[in-house]
Amino acid sequence: MRSKQRMYKLCTVLVGMLLACSLAGCRSESTKTDATQLPQNLVKSGEPALQMLTEPGTNLFCRAQTEAGFYEVIGRGEKVQNIVYTDYATKSRVYLCNDPGCNHIDDSCPSFLDTRSIEQLFIIENSLYIQNSPTNLDNEPSQLIRMDLDGTNRKSVLTMETGQRLFGGYATDGEILYYTTMVYVEVPEAEQETNDGIEFHLNGMNLRTGESTELYNFGTNCIGDKIWVGCVGREMIFSDTVIPDPEQPKKVAHTYRAFSIDTQQWRDLIQEPIFEGAGIYADGMHIWVGTDGMTLNTLTYDTSEVRQTTLDRKIPLYATMDCVTDGKMLVFWAEKDQDTYVTVDLETGAITDGMFWVSKASGKNGVMKILASFGDEYLVDTDPVDVPQVFYHVDGSVERYTGEFWPQALISKEDYWAGKRNLTMIDDHVKA
Ligand SMILES: [Zn+2]
Repeated sequence: MRSKQRMYKLCTVLVGMLLACSLAGCRSESTKTDATQLPQNLVKSGEPALQMLTEPGTNLFCRAQTEAGFYEVIGRGEKVQNIVYTDYATKSRVYLCNDPGCNHIDDSCPSFLDTRSIEQLFIIENSLYIQNSPTNLDNEPSQLIRMDLDGTNRKSVLTMETGQRLFGGYATDGEILYYTTMVYVEVPEAEQETNDGIEFHLNGMNLRTGESTELYNFGTNCIGDKIWVGCVGREMIFSDTVIPDPEQPKKVAHTYRAFSIDTQQWRDLIQEPIFEGAGIYADGMHIWVGTDGMTLNTLTYDTSEVRQTTLDRKIPLYATMDCVTDGKMLVFWAEKDQDTYVTVDLETGAITDGMFWVSKASGKNGVMKILASFGDEYLVDTDPVDVPQVFYHVDGSVERYTGEFWPQALISKEDYWAGKRNLTMIDDHVKA
């Protein structure tokens, strides 16, 4: 259990991001690298459309894919992280390293990352970008590092000054890389109770020249409330979360605003009624269950329309939604020690049994997450097994232990959504 949980633990050091973390959704579809894969209605004529490179609503997204394979970052120690690659053609998972004798623990290895703070991974054309956001700003700057797809030829393309951190959302129109930062500002003592002293900035970097410009300053007190949920055409869509009644913190109101990268003007998209539960931001939509538990609401940013679909059966308001793609999503919840996993058809509201893994060791279940999408197949996490693992401490000592590991497999999209476990296992050389 250690390696995977540790990866997420290492990722969860950012301040005030609990809300955004809970909104993390399907991790495959937002990593498309080919703009032509965007739905046609999202591409406005003339200009290249913006493409979101990271998962909407979260700053923790250590995965990316090309048409050939899937990249992820795993943690193996206090200052040891590695890039791991699953190759679709050979159906194998390896360290991003060609040397069979390599331990992958120092700078000579192209899979090695001398840090514990990787929070974002994305691909533009033939370059892999990783965001490093250490919490101790005085010792190590927050950086965006670009490298070739084989992990070599590394260069820092963004290096933050002291008091500034890369925050996590990224999009591009092919020319400019759009990104957000947290900027720590001085607050007079009298205001310290009401001002968190952290500004949220939107910026653009010219991919060719490396020059950066600040596009908008959201001000302080909004980290966690202002969520970059997607892009439509040449506009970025931000959701604003408000809790109107402090006595009822679960009642949340959402508004949506669009920021044009051409005019740098804002326009209101929709004023949403108050509803319970956060729902999920994914695939150009905000999806949530109504208070009756029987109505599925889908707001599409492109049209600003909310569509309501009646569900086959009741879904509790606290249910978690995940893996929204291809017109379907996975929903799960625990009730009286009973874990339920269902697939919801967004169009019809039909509910069928969903995919989940089972741990033989612990007896626990979890969602069989979609990691990547290759043609008619998904790459998924499967039933965890206990394997020997190694943890590298910063003082040079090595700890050996047995921990849970989730082998990957390919499954046809049809079987996945039908809940049929016809899995083609990936040959794993990382944990094998
Ligand atoms: Zn290596």
